[in-house]
Amino acid sequence: MLLKFLLLTFFINFSYAKRQIPIGAIFHDDNSDSEIAFRYAIKRVNMYESGFELVPLIRHISASDSFKTERIVCEFLNESVVAIFGPGTSETSGIASSICNAVEIPHIIMHWEREKIGKSTTKSSPFTLNLFPDTDILSRAYAELLIDYTWKSYTIIYEDDDSLMRLKDILQIHDPQSSPVTVRQLGDGPDYRPLLKSIQTSGESHIILDVGLDKIITLLRQASEVKMMEEYQSYIIISLDTHTLDFEELKFMRANITAMRLIDPHSHDLMNAIHDWELGERQYQRVYRIAPEKVMTETGLYHDAVRLFAAAVRELDATEEIETEKIDCKDPAIWEHGKRIVEYMRLRTDNGITGRIIFNEEGKRTHFQLEITELSKDGFKKIGTWDPENQVSYTRSLDEAEAQVIEALQNKTFVVVSRIAAPFLDYRVAEEGELLEGNNRFQGYSLDLIDAISKVLHFNYRFELVPDGKYGSYNKDTKQWDGLVRHLLDRKADLAICDLTITYERRTAVDFTMPFMTLGISILFLKPVKQPPDLFSFLSPLSVDVWIYMFAAYLSVSVLLFVLARMAPDDWESSHPCNQEPEELENIWNMHNCIWLTMGSIMGQGCDILPKAISTRLVCGIWWFFALIMLASYTANLAAFLTMERMDATINSAEDLAKQSKIKYGAVKGGSTMKFFQESNFSTYQRMWAAMESARPSVFTNNNDEGRDRVLRGKRQYAYLMESTMLEYFTERYCELTQIGGLLDSKSYGIALPLNSPYRTAISGAVLKLQEDGKLSALKEKWWKGGKCQKQDSGGSDDAAELGIANVGGVFVVLGFGCLFALIVAILEFLWNVKKVAVEQKLTPWEALKAELLFAINIWIVTKPVHNRLSESESRKSTTRSPKSVSRYGSDAQSNKEKSEKSVNLNNGKEKSFTSRSLSHLNRIGKIFTCKNKSN
Ligand code: GLU
Repeated sequence: MLLKFLLLTFFINFSYAKRQIPIGAIFHDDNSDSEIAFRYAIKRVNMYESGFELVPLIRHISASDSFKTERIVCEFLNESVVAIFGPGTSETSGIASSICNAVEIPHIIMHWEREKIGKSTTKSSPFTLNLFPDTDILSRAYAELLIDYTWKSYTIIYEDDDSLMRLKDILQIHDPQSSPVTVRQLGDGPDYRPLLKSIQTSGESHIILDVGLDKIITLLRQASEVKMMEEYQSYIIISLDTHTLDFEELKFMRANITAMRLIDPHSHDLMNAIHDWELGERQYQRVYRIAPEKVMTETGLYHDAVRLFAAAVRELDATEEIETEKIDCKDPAIWEHGKRIVEYMRLRTDNGITGRIIFNEEGKRTHFQLEITELSKDGFKKIGTWDPENQVSYTRSLDEAEAQVIEALQNKTFVVVSRIAAPFLDYRVAEEGELLEGNNRFQGYSLDLIDAISKVLHFNYRFELVPDGKYGSYNKDTKQWDGLVRHLLDRKADLAICDLTITYERRTAVDFTMPFMTLGISILFLKPVKQPPDLFSFLSPLSVDVWIYMFAAYLSVSVLLFVLARMAPDDWESSHPCNQEPEELENIWNMHNCIWLTMGSIMGQGCDILPKAISTRLVCGIWWFFALIMLASYTANLAAFLTMERMDATINSAEDLAKQSKIKYGAVKGGSTMKFFQESNFSTYQRMWAAMESARPSVFTNNNDEGRDRVLRGKRQYAYLMESTMLEYFTERYCELTQIGGLLDSKSYGIALPLNSPYRTAISGAVLKLQEDGKLSALKEKWWKGGKCQKQDSGGSDDAAELGIANVGGVFVVLGFGCLFALIVAILEFLWNVKKVAVEQKLTPWEALKAELLFAINIWIVTKPVHNRLSESESRKSTTRSPKSVSRYGSDAQSNKEKSEKSVNLNNGKEKSFTSRSLSHLNRIGKIFTCKNKSN
């Protein structure tokens, strides 16, 4: 140490031989830190400089004395200074700047400089260099910090108009859609409490403070007195020297205080500089001590400014010898080296105590790095950095931040606000001799959940009830929240828990943790009442359309059978089975018989007469198949319909509710369910909202219990729209109640916290952990189950449903195809017969077809002459009658009837009234008897 001191003394003495270059500096305070930094920076330069020696000329003035400033600057010029440093305010440095620029002497300043509106600095003061960060860039830095902090609303407390200039970027990032930003002027002190109190009542928790350094501590102290330094309050202080203040009395405050600084207190350069300052002062028997974190920005800037200036002079001096010159203010002359020194200074990119120094063309310091610091119990701690390229970047890892929060949680007692609504929270009934107090007064899902979270994160909690018992809705007229949300906004609680739905609107006022339950809106209504059995309940198993289709199928198949039977030769048979050579054939398949056959089959009874031709049998077969399936389906479904109880189901869905006006419906006033209908774009829900809103008396309730009671007492004239979770709880306990339809939406419950609460991530993590461990579902089971109503009680009406065409449509299709096939076969059979007739009767096929077709469509003819017998008689009579008149189809209906009767007479001569059809029937049941008769 001694050696160093001797060396310094030696160099100081030795320097007298060097060329002297005077530089002037104007300070406001006597022997300030900045002055010390300036003097010792020069000393260090001189120590290592061999060609020249910087000679400091120092003067002091008051901060606003521009007249004296002018005088001193002129004195300096008269003493041949080559540069002037300072003074440190806009008022005084302005005059120095204009004189220096006039005589082209470098002017170096180190303070925030008010923008000269409408003036370009390049043109007006090209010889002034400001080492203090450029206003625009600094303003951008604060704006980006704010964006990074995602502050949605905030209040700016400012002292003078200069602040607004510094904060212009912050004011610009705020667009009209964002939450309100309040700008409040500090006003005259020293009592700022009224202002702070009014900010506190506005519920604002984000404050941007841009006031004089001397007022910051006073203001924050008063803020703590009005409870504005609590957990969820955050401050950003707009001063690069905040860290130099004494925060001892405030460091245990729970508010978050952020500030930025230009000086890195751990920088090596700063350590060396402080060492120089202390050692140098000791030389004058003065004790000087300064902690690195207490070094002001201006002090650092003076140090860096001297180093930068010396480097530029050295550079210029190497090419041309710098000569000093006396300048008279009354007759000013231009100093020839000034321009180049300024150029050299501007082009250098040196590192100093205040970081990297880079100027733009206008002489503004545009590149610098700021440290983002946060107040902790150990003073301001660096949490990140800001620079124009990388913007905000954090040096504190997420784990560190989380660990800090967990640590803070350990000793904390959370105030948890809730509302009474079983099963979430209810009063506990005291056991004998038990005194209920504190959290013990309550029980329920919410209490158990907070308890489980507290065990994960190790914190204490105290349950409180919200005075107005509301969930939290925003009144657009008063612009105020109520209920749990209001409580959180007033910072009266740390957490809010109940069946509180996470909504977008609430999210703008409070934060939510991960959801702990998911749900949807549904309808609570009375269970359908049992109806007396229906007289026509036998019709119920099939739907109306199936009945109609069946009837249509029945008619169609009967007609088809009739047509095919007429066409099919095999269904034309002898009227008496014993008559092997009948003169004519008969067809028993008139419409009457066809309808009877199909009726008998579908009723499962069968029929005595049956068709013989392939086509008609095909039709019959397929109809029987149809009958089999339909009968089986009907019987099976009928059993269910006859045993079930008929319920009077008036509404089945929200649409049903919307369509009618008899049953009124409502929801909790100010709840998320009501908001859902109020804000829905879906026409059904809009109609429902209009109905709810206009209903008198009001259909809205104060809570779900009130809604439930209204449904119970409502005689099926009131339905209640509510969330499925509570609905489930009610239906398990009130057996008359049921849920109507499904869920209309999907949402979830979350624990609410004040905006930007540091505990959100930790609590969300705990909720997630409980969910993964199955504890959330166990809690739900514990508080929801145990109701006396059995699940099956609520069912019933939906157990049996009539069979629709969709269920039995296939059978109809099979029937259709079967009939079609039968028709094709019938046509083939018919054509085959036509061919045979044509050959036997020696007719052309066309004539035969026409004759057979005419015969077939003449439905009144039920007998048909046998063609080979006919051909014999024809051949006998052929000599007397023309071939045309002997056609087998020549007889009319009457003659047919006669013939028919004749053939009956042939049978036994006594049953004259028998028709050929009834005979044929007898034939089938007693063939032998009939033949015996014949033999008699
Ligand atoms: N859970 C709802 C809320 O947070 C209240 C009940 C409701 O609206 O159905 O607003």
